[in-house]
Amino acid sequence: ALERNIACKHHGGLLEQIYPQGKQICRSWGVLRAGWRSMSVQPARDAAAEQAGASNFPPLQTYSDEERMMRDSVRKYAQERIAPFVSKMDEESYMDTDVIKSLFEQGLMGIEIDPEYGGTGTTFFSSILVIEELAKVDPSVAVLCDIQNTLINTLFAKLGTPAQKEQYLSRLSTDMIGSFCLSEAEAGSDAFSLKTRAEKHKDYYVINGSKMWISNAEHAGVFLVMANVDPSAGYKGITCFIVDRDTEGLEICKKENKLGLRASSTCPLNFDNVMVPEKNILGQVGHGYKYAIGMLNEGRIGIAAQMLGLAQGCFDNTVPYTRQRIQFGKRIFDFQGMQHQIAHVATQIEAARLLTYNSARLKEAGRPFIKEACMAKYFAAEVATLTTSKCIEWMGGVGFTKDYPIEKYYRDCKIGTIYEGTSNVQLSTMAKIIDKEFGQ
Ligand SMILES: Cc1cc2nc3c(=O)[nH]c(=O)nc-3n(C[C@H](O)[C@H](O)[C@H](O)COP(=O)(O)OP(=O)(O)OC[C@H]3O[C@@H](n4cnc5c(N)ncnc54)[C@H](O)[C@@H]3O)c2cc1C
Repeated sequence: ALERNIACKHHGGLLEQIYPQGKQICRSWGVLRAGWRSMSVQPARDAAAEQAGASNFPPLQTYSDEERMMRDSVRKYAQERIAPFVSKMDEESYMDTDVIKSLFEQGLMGIEIDPEYGGTGTTFFSSILVIEELAKVDPSVAVLCDIQNTLINTLFAKLGTPAQKEQYLSRLSTDMIGSFCLSEAEAGSDAFSLKTRAEKHKDYYVINGSKMWISNAEHAGVFLVMANVDPSAGYKGITCFIVDRDTEGLEICKKENKLGLRASSTCPLNFDNVMVPEKNILGQVGHGYKYAIGMLNEGRIGIAAQMLGLAQGCFDNTVPYTRQRIQFGKRIFDFQGMQHQIAHVATQIEAARLLTYNSARLKEAGRPFIKEACMAKYFAAEVATLTTSKCIEWMGGVGFTKDYPIEKYYRDCKIGTIYEGTSNVQLSTMAKIIDKEFGQ
């Protein structure tokens, strides 16, 4: 404990030196990482919890010093560097390139990537906290960061050859966005019925087909594309290919005009005789379906964090209004009818947080987490829907206007029940696991 206290003081001093205006996060992770390593061994413990006698079973909302510092810094960064752009980006349906640049500068696009490749070198749980904090301010920015960290970077880190890691991880952590390409027009929930074909020729493959709904495609420099090399083998032919943006025959089509998450580009892609060298296969031929399932299982925790942050952000922007608005001579917050609703929603948000954090901690501990991840994503999406709807009601007429951010949260939350597995898909997966549990 003494060592830890000394270390904390040391970090406090360093942090002030590193970002006096609180604007530079990433350097702090890099510089301090070695010093934090000893503190990060037990990520779910902190000094306060130990002093309170909770050392054996710390509460779920216990953070390592590194996690707390990251959460607080991202909270500040999001207010200063993202909030001023949110409304315009939504209105004009674009992602500001300065926002993208700052995400890289802050080390938020390579959160778990090893510093050897220019990454921040921290944990999955930190990614979850970052996604939550970003989503409080803008769920579109959060999903950009989420897909990069929980899907793209993880796939490269887990499956990449040394050469692929060298080439891509160093770019993904510093200046390149990646997109994950699984869905097609005819293959949504039934993703493995995909039709995009990769035909082998000597030492290269030729990809033909099309993808739908590809997030961040407008700015992506690399696409991880699931294509079938042997349709006769069914889903066991699905293989993951690394396709660079400038590859001939790859067309990134016009982005969708969406209800919400408007700053996040969602584009169809066409593949017209796209030649990809064999060395661009990520992992093993025919294992793409396993990789996609594995990544989406983890990725769901990221979407749960996005929905959690969105709900909390909406709530935080609404409650102060209810404490100021006077009707019948009192604050509207003082009516019991309002208080009960507000307390109910606060309870739902707290429950979503516990499910999300618990599934992230389970995943990090290497324990089974799939059912819990589905529960977290399903529940957090429901809570986001409830919260945003209630917040508009609590604000009355002004909640329905674009003068306040509430209507945007209301539009943005709907995607939580759709992507990375619809709510029905989450429920079916949970039910399969429950059935097995009772069959044992
Ligand atoms: C904004 C946005 C971003 C996206 N980003 C990406 C991305 O980056 N990469 C990517 O690959 N994909 C992406 N997607 C695609 C997304 O994952 C799919 O939209 C999703 O999987 C659902 O597929 P679908 O739209 O074809 O709906 P469908 O599968 O047609 O589902 C329609 C309805 O039928 C229900 N349903 C379907 N099958 C069953 C069943 N067996 N049991 C019960 N109900 C069922 C669903 O729950 C849903 O309610 C994105 C989608 C959107 C809208």
